[in-house]
Amino acid sequence: MKTRKVFIFSGPPGSGKGSLSQLCVTQLGFKQISTGDLCRQHIEKHTEIGKKIDFIIKSGKLIPDSLITKMVYEWFLMHAEDGASVILDGYPRTVVQAEAFYAMTVDGTLPLRVGVMQLVIEDAIVVKRLSSRQTCKNKECQAVYSTLPASNLLSQKAGICDRCEYEVEQRKDDMPEVIQERLRVYHQHEQELLKFYKKAGYKIIEIDGDKPLQNMFLQFQREIDGLAL
Ligand code: AMP
Repeated sequence: MKTRKVFIFSGPPGSGKGSLSQLCVTQLGFKQISTGDLCRQHIEKHTEIGKKIDFIIKSGKLIPDSLITKMVYEWFLMHAEDGASVILDGYPRTVVQAEAFYAMTVDGTLPLRVGVMQLVIEDAIVVKRLSSRQTCKNKECQAVYSTLPASNLLSQKAGICDRCEYEVEQRKDDMPEVIQERLRVYHQHEQELLKFYKKAGYKIIEIDGDKPLQNMFLQFQREIDGLAL
């Protein structure tokens, strides 16, 4: 397996991890692992795992740690010959996941050099963003839009995806009650995770998640250029 760089994208739901990842994929040739997308693909395909996790996702709670770590491990096995840098979007979300991932990198199971990108943003902004977020219904596409005119993420035709012309919809877990639960779960693990990353010796890049996406991307690029991973 090739040695590759991995960036853990950390931050609350709706902080821009997915959008920033997309820019890194299209402009820097990175690969992205979104554990949320992997879970939604299982549900869409009605796999055994999908049947188990459907309700958990709809309620905003977390999938069992071992299941999610297995999905990530299998992704690396399937892409073993690829040396591109990888973004982990939405993983690890608990210290148990972070420890399991760390263990695989230090025992040589996964030859990875790891850094962390932490998006910092207030909950109130996240709630506004997520409750106006719309996602393409086509699970192969999952492009993200917003009904907020100031977001620069309006689709050209209201309710229709610009990329594949499927309809767009509000994700079940972007409903207001579920957003609150997702934020609660995020904050419950946030400090412990940061403490673990520091202990593990990961370099941490902090980015203001309330800045325009392009600025966040430029800062990220600058910071990784100067980062000895
Ligand atoms: P996301 O699209 O990253 O916001 O993830 C959507 C949902 O997928 C989460 O609310 C969880 O139910 C599940 N999920 C995604 N990543 C993880 C993870 N690392 N650990 C546990 N559950 C996860």
